[in-house]
Amino acid sequence: MYLIFAALFGLVLGSFYSVCVSRYGTDNTIFKPARSFCPQCDHQLTILENIPLISFLIQKGRCSLCKARIPIFYPLIELTSMFWAVLAATHATTYVEWVVLLAIGGICIVASAIDLRTFLLPDILTYSGAAIVLVASYAGILHVDFMQSLLGAGIGAFALWAVSALYKLIRKINGMGLGDVKFMLMLGALTGIGHLSIFIFLASVLALIFCIISTRGKAGMSRVYIPFGPFLASGALITYLYGDQIASFIR
Ligand SMILES: [Zn+2]
Repeated sequence: MYLIFAALFGLVLGSFYSVCVSRYGTDNTIFKPARSFCPQCDHQLTILENIPLISFLIQKGRCSLCKARIPIFYPLIELTSMFWAVLAATHATTYVEWVVLLAIGGICIVASAIDLRTFLLPDILTYSGAAIVLVASYAGILHVDFMQSLLGAGIGAFALWAVSALYKLIRKINGMGLGDVKFMLMLGALTGIGHLSIFIFLASVLALIFCIISTRGKAGMSRVYIPFGPFLASGALITYLYGDQIASFIR
């Protein structure tokens, strides 16, 4: 029963996230305008047209007025959020941990989606995310020790910064943004120094799979800029939930 509640709550959060993502970099703010609208014809969505996921399916992914396509990106954000809310609910040992995991997952989803769209990771998300994780681990809400968190954040971010500095030195171009390094503060804190290697391994494998698929049949591999945010985020979230199992599996 509570998993159904978690799923519905995740969907509602997801629709809030997609509003954040769609309005990032525009003149609109999260609360203004209050109602969602079609970017093509400015048609204000009615309550029935604004139900997460369901409205998208009923309207077959098109605006009810001008029939412009609604990007599949937005229902995917809602689905991801629903999936994370359920997954976090099955893993969290307390309600407080679940709520904190929802906040962490939310920041990861919004930051990843913005990174995919604009290749930027906003400071407000990465810094506040790092603060949330460190405070929660200090308060004993997360199952990662505070010292582990602190070292994970520091060493994780430093390692990523060193790799990007080295890359820049050798290739003379920016391979990785500073946003990724800041994001690493949050994600390294989440996994802790102990599971940092598992986390970085998972993130690299996911990014590599993405590269292989997205550059298939295309020349000029070195010109492709990869948004690392989504891979770092999913690697860290998987590691937080399954790091112990993965570690004992490797041993
Ligand atoms: Zn429209």
